[in-house]
Amino acid sequence: MTGEPATTTGRCYACKGTFSFDPKKVETMLVDPKTNLPPGITALGTLRPATPEAVARSVDEPICPECIEKARRISKTLHQPQHWDSEPPASF
Ligand SMILES: [Zn+2]
Repeated sequence: MTGEPATTTGRCYACKGTFSFDPKKVETMLVDPKTNLPPGITALGTLRPATPEAVARSVDEPICPECIEKARRISKTLHQPQHWDSEPPASF
């Protein structure tokens, strides 16, 4: 027992920023080193079926907490029905 937190320093896949993290707890993203993208996403950002080969060669890249937070906010927006703060879209 050293009492020191088991942190390591790495580069965030999303923002390329260096940050410290606990390798056991850090959020990661599967990235295909050949394309530098997740196996199921094309360079254009569109989805495609992930091939078993792409998944097999992919590695888990760490993502910093800020990017996780950002991604959560984006996916929340995408998965929610359109919300209109001001005018309603159509009031007949
Ligand atoms: Zn980041």
